[in-house]
Amino acid sequence: MYNSLGAMKKIYTITIIILTIIGSLVMLSVSALLNPQVVDIEIGNNFIKLTPIPHNMTIVRENFYNLYKFQDTTIGNSSSTHSSSITLLVTYPLTLITPTDYIATTTEKSLIIASQDFLIATPTTSPTPTTPTTATTSTGTSTGTETATSSKTHTATPHITIADINLIPPPERKHTFLFLSGEELYEILMAYTRYHEINTPTETVKSIAYSTAKWSKTFGIDPLLILAQIRWESKFKPYARSKSDAKGLMQLKDFVYQPIARFLGLDTSTNAIYDIDNNIAAGTYYMYYKMRTWGTETGALGAYLLGDTGYLQALWNETEGKDSIGTTYNKYIAKIMNTRNELRSYIGLPPYDRTLIVYISPGHGTYDNGYYDMGAIVGKYYESRINLGIALKLKNILETKGITVYIARTKENDPETPYLSERVRMINLIHPNVVISIHANANPYSKSIRGYEIYYRKAYDKFLARSIDKSMNLSSPIPKHKEPKYMKLIILSGWPPSVLIETGYMTNSQDLSILLSDNYQWAIAQSIAEGVLTFLGNSNR
Ligand SMILES: [Zn+2]
Repeated sequence: MYNSLGAMKKIYTITIIILTIIGSLVMLSVSALLNPQVVDIEIGNNFIKLTPIPHNMTIVRENFYNLYKFQDTTIGNSSSTHSSSITLLVTYPLTLITPTDYIATTTEKSLIIASQDFLIATPTTSPTPTTPTTATTSTGTSTGTETATSSKTHTATPHITIADINLIPPPERKHTFLFLSGEELYEILMAYTRYHEINTPTETVKSIAYSTAKWSKTFGIDPLLILAQIRWESKFKPYARSKSDAKGLMQLKDFVYQPIARFLGLDTSTNAIYDIDNNIAAGTYYMYYKMRTWGTETGALGAYLLGDTGYLQALWNETEGKDSIGTTYNKYIAKIMNTRNELRSYIGLPPYDRTLIVYISPGHGTYDNGYYDMGAIVGKYYESRINLGIALKLKNILETKGITVYIARTKENDPETPYLSERVRMINLIHPNVVISIHANANPYSKSIRGYEIYYRKAYDKFLARSIDKSMNLSSPIPKHKEPKYMKLIILSGWPPSVLIETGYMTNSQDLSILLSDNYQWAIAQSIAEGVLTFLGNSNR
């Protein structure tokens, strides 16, 4: 599959948005603009600290899609206390961004905390992604100046004015796709529609092209993927409406559109969903969220068609999942991927590179000041060695399936072994499609407790957890102890879908003998691999 996702994933995002006001509070925003506030931002591995809290804002945890936003305390919640600084724990890589255009239009009302790269950039070196030689780089309307000063500098100028945010793919994935400009997409789309005798009016083509350029860049999704999706969702007809009441270019249902529109600040009135820009904004955001859940473009598309639960079911049932009009997910994905490659060919780009990447973290094994972290110790056996044995076998199996595997360590007692925070940093740099952490459990109070357990941290990671749980339940030599469960673990805080697997209990003699056996380690690794491979998409195998 594509690793394009990888690129997309790039969107690493964490989001912190300070948003205020709508409508009647515009006046307030204006005064905020006139009196810019200097906010000191400190970014750590897992926190963002703001001093002072900008514009009397308090943090509101936004449940929808796990975004955080900061809301002006003058709205409704006037009783909330206001402290001089606030530290926000974040579970994802530090890169939270709102839509570019949204930012452009609400800069005076919003503080957006962008990626670490972005914030660290000095005023004169705003990030400029390099692009492959075959296509020209976008310098379209969305490119603005970025005047954010370093977070450590107190100056009189408004230091967070983000007119444009580039969601820059990590180096490894930089060349998988381009954020083409509206003008470039317009030319490609005109050529495509004319070649295929699709009579979309020129003005409509233009609007679609510019909106796609804007929103795909905002959310870090390949614009040509979005255009290909629009092709197969609506054939570029803004007023398309399906029998099942999916509406507009990207065929969104109202229950999908409405919450996203509210979050993004789009028009939520009855027919707003048909508006070209609104529809593409919400549809692209929806794809972005599906990308986070599935870690791959194919997964995102499958879930776009069938919903997360329906898609996972389809992956496991072998019978192909179909939408309400009988389109199978494999066919849907293939059509869109093919069209994307055709669109790429119009500007001389080769077919999309769909290499998959898995990051494996064998638990423990770090070395610090003479102290070696062996994890759980039972008698003469210790966990880090068991974890490594299973992890290396998992790596081997995945590689035979053509997957690129990064592993945090390959030996015991290696002073170079990266710590947890370093592993998370690597994950956010590499942007694997999924992250798997391998551990073995121990219970000092009970020798009878046995079984594997799977943990996830981000709500949407549970689909990966479920997939691996399904295969381990079928074939791991160690039985299940508990259903997959939420746990706040550092290793799971990276961008991609991530799980931690406790393969069994070292304190249980049956489990321990299995965990120590080379053959059984292969069986455990195989059962984990099946769950990962299925999650990544049958069509990729
Ligand atoms: Zn452990």
